Amino acid sequence: MTGMNNIKNSNNAEAPTKYEAVIGLETHVELSTNTKMFCGCALSFGAEPNTHTCPVCLGLPGTLPVINARAVQFAVKIGLALNCTINASSIFHRKNYFYPDMPKNYQISQYDKPLASNGFLDVDMGSYVRRVGITRVHMEEDTGKLIHTGSSGRISESDASIVDFNRAGTPLIEIVTEPDIKTPAEAKEYLIALRNIILYLDVSDCSMEQGSLRCDANISVKPAGSSGMGTKTEIKNLNSFRFLQRGLEHEFERQSALLEEGKKIIQQTRHYDHITDTTKPLRSKEEAHDYRYFPDPDLVPLIMDTGAIEEIKSTIPELPGQKIKRYRESFSLADETARLLAADKDTAQYFDRCAEILGRDKLKAAANWITGDFAAYLNKKSVKINQSGISARSLCSLIEMIEGGSISSKIAKSVFEEMAENKKEPAEIIKSKNLEQVSDEGELEKIIDEVISVNSEVAQQFRNGKDKAIGFLIGQVMAKTKGKANPALVNSIMLKKLKS
Ligand code: ADP
Ligand code: ZN
Ligand code: MG
Repeated sequence: MTGMNNIKNSNNAEAPTKYEAVIGLETHVELSTNTKMFCGCALSFGAEPNTHTCPVCLGLPGTLPVINARAVQFAVKIGLALNCTINASSIFHRKNYFYPDMPKNYQISQYDKPLASNGFLDVDMGSYVRRVGITRVHMEEDTGKLIHTGSSGRISESDASIVDFNRAGTPLIEIVTEPDIKTPAEAKEYLIALRNIILYLDVSDCSMEQGSLRCDANISVKPAGSSGMGTKTEIKNLNSFRFLQRGLEHEFERQSALLEEGKKIIQQTRHYDHITDTTKPLRSKEEAHDYRYFPDPDLVPLIMDTGAIEEIKSTIPELPGQKIKRYRESFSLADETARLLAADKDTAQYFDRCAEILGRDKLKAAANWITGDFAAYLNKKSVKINQSGISARSLCSLIEMIEGGSISSKIAKSVFEEMAENKKEPAEIIKSKNLEQVSDEGELEKIIDEVISVNSEVAQQFRNGKDKAIGFLIGQVMAKTKGKANPALVNSIMLKKLKS
């Protein structure tokens, strides 16, 4: 868990304060199918504007939508991974509104019969688990993109807006939670957990920066411990995990202050500005849209039979929650280690591969490398584990050498760096640099005798009861062997010699 917030909610360890937050999130995920939701145009993030459009996604009269089967499979995967019921029949509705980025003047979405409903996601907060109810998972299509000319990119400082319809019709999933989230920190962890699951499912690239993962946050405030819910506001433009948390923290403070003054909260949509770290109103309920939803007459109900659902279920991999459980229970890994390994799909796969190679005994060492030195290296170079050039097999042979005593763990660190920099196998590095650990007792005895005779005063201090003096002597042996002496062996021989 990161970033303690300065809000004193009842879930924080500190004394309960007057108000607590009630939060529900609405998350949009663009699916990474090859083609759009209702036509054959390719998805093309970053392509030349308006080069991936057709009469269907431009909403020209007389065209008919055809449902993308792969998008449905992807959506069902998400629904199942979030423990939802997949509804045997779901309906596409038209959501009517007018905006220049939407060619048809309605968006095809789902309304009262969504694809999936009634699920949950368990969010691990370290010291407790927050179960967040998933109200619904539904399918819709994305809109086009407006680009406001001028350097600021803001509509108010722009002479013209141009529209790119490449994104129009991209398959979009909306995931709505129950108002079960109690702190801004929980909201952030929920979104991280949701993103990890969707990345495991391989159905979206979930980039908040590029907009393929977008989250709107609803929040109200109520007296701590009371039942019922206050009037909520909805915050938009939260395009990073940090902004989601910050925006909610700010809004919690704003609403709490209003209640404290005896004022009312106005139900409205607010825009988060990360520069000023505040929210400002966009529109209030009186201006809220009336979307005039009605079933799209061009689309038949989407029927999901149990056979089809079972087939999709069988393609779902082991998910982060299950992995964490397995790592803890079967491999006895610490909670935090298990969580770190399972959070990222590629890291978990890498670790699973190590488990196959190494077997149970040496697995803790692999876990420590992957979450320790290896993670630090990847972080420094900002590369992913798969791009590191260090195969699971190479890491495992390094671990075998440490565990087998042929290199010291100190030397192992430098071997690892060399592996990472020069993409060499550990055995090769150890051989060419002559780094093999010295475990020959005769050889070590000779060096130890020498060190004791040169430092006879220090040796005497040890014999007189200054225990710490042995550290200096061992240090001398390590220096003479350039760190290659087997430290456990040096220690035991040294003790024997000093006490004799
Ligand atoms: P709307 O009608 O404004 O779309 P919904 O009932 O559909 O509201 O809920 C939208 C989101 O807001 C959901 O995630 C829901 O959990 C959350 N929500 C609803 N009421 C509240 C409330 N009083 N406080 C905080 N969140 C709420
Ligand atoms: Zn098209
Ligand atoms: Mg709603």
